Amino acid sequence: MEFPFGVSQEFRCLKRTDLVKAMADNLPTGTIRTNCQVLSVEIDPATKFPRLMLSNGSVLEAKVVIGCDGVNSAIGSMFGLHKATLSLFSTTVARGFTNYSNGHQFASEFVMMIKGQVQLGRIPLSDKLVYWFVTKPRTSQDSTIWKDPVLIRQSLIDSMKGFPEEAIDMMRNCKLSFLHLTELKYRAPWELLFNKFRKGTVTIAGDAMHATGPFVAQGGSASIEDAIVLARCLAQKMQNNTKKVEDSEINIAVAVAEEAIDQYVKERKMRNFWLSFHSFLVGKKLDTKSSIVRFIILAIMSVLFRDPDWHSRYHCGNL
Ligand SMILES: Cc1cc2nc3c(=O)[nH]c(=O)nc-3n(C[C@H](O)[C@H](O)[C@H](O)COP(=O)(O)OP(=O)(O)OC[C@H]3O[C@@H](n4cnc5c(N)ncnc54)[C@H](O)[C@@H]3O)c2cc1C
Repeated sequence: MEFPFGVSQEFRCLKRTDLVKAMADNLPTGTIRTNCQVLSVEIDPATKFPRLMLSNGSVLEAKVVIGCDGVNSAIGSMFGLHKATLSLFSTTVARGFTNYSNGHQFASEFVMMIKGQVQLGRIPLSDKLVYWFVTKPRTSQDSTIWKDPVLIRQSLIDSMKGFPEEAIDMMRNCKLSFLHLTELKYRAPWELLFNKFRKGTVTIAGDAMHATGPFVAQGGSASIEDAIVLARCLAQKMQNNTKKVEDSEINIAVAVAEEAIDQYVKERKMRNFWLSFHSFLVGKKLDTKSSIVRFIILAIMSVLFRDPDWHSRYHCGNL
């Protein structure tokens, strides 16, 4: 994919639809099914293969299942990661795009502005389109307005007193159909440490595995890393065992897939833990009203995350 608009080293702004389209275009026709949510997954006691129960009433027998179904993952339940056990930060975030038909004047860089407990982040996608987000303390009003973009926009404008007029104009002129208000759900980072994340040939990846707040802006990147590492582990194990897999019965292929998943989980565990822990600390620092807690968090961060950009120098290896 090309990034025609110059951006500084570690920031790359991607529209989710472009990413999904790029991936979908590379799959054989007929691979993707839509409008059928996974309700649950279980291991068939007879075949030992996973069975997916779908919302259209059908059952899908699979050889391998990789659950990438996000923070509210249905497949995550198999690993004890139930939706009901997600925690909420007291911070909420709104995201949007603003189109400047005559071009905007912003430099091609990521900018953060902070006033009290409200933060605005902004990065241009092109010379006309700008992506931005606002984080602010969650209010009781948020749970009623989140479906109505006009009310979201008004509540954002109200919360942005003291910000430059250009920032408020950006909200005023945003594309309402792309305006979202999100409650930030997460799991405690240490939950990542003690989970094997494999049952038979079922595993999970992305937010399904590591639900974190967006405070270090790495959830999507970490999900792509998961995909690269998992694909590499599967490819390497299959290649090393090609002869066995071709000659023997299905059990060997299953054992090879299980080994590959274990390797993937091993490779990803600590990387995802540190990202998740960093994000957790930043989120809690924003959440807390206690200056003592804030001081403790800052002290931990100054020891563990002295370099705030440490995560952008990580290389998960090639496919
Ligand atoms: C406000 C905010 C800002 C962020 N900013 C950044 C950033 O700057 N950089 C970054 O790297 N990351 C960022 N993230 C994180 C990033 O968006 C996520 O980490 C990333 O989208 C996770 O990808 P995923 O594929 O695991 O899950 P998702 O993107 O949530 O995709 C899950 C998919 O599964 C589908 N699905 C869900 N349930 C089911 C089901 N039962 N059956 C079938 N399909 C299902 C959903 O429809 C969806 O298509 C941000 C997140 C938020 C909330």
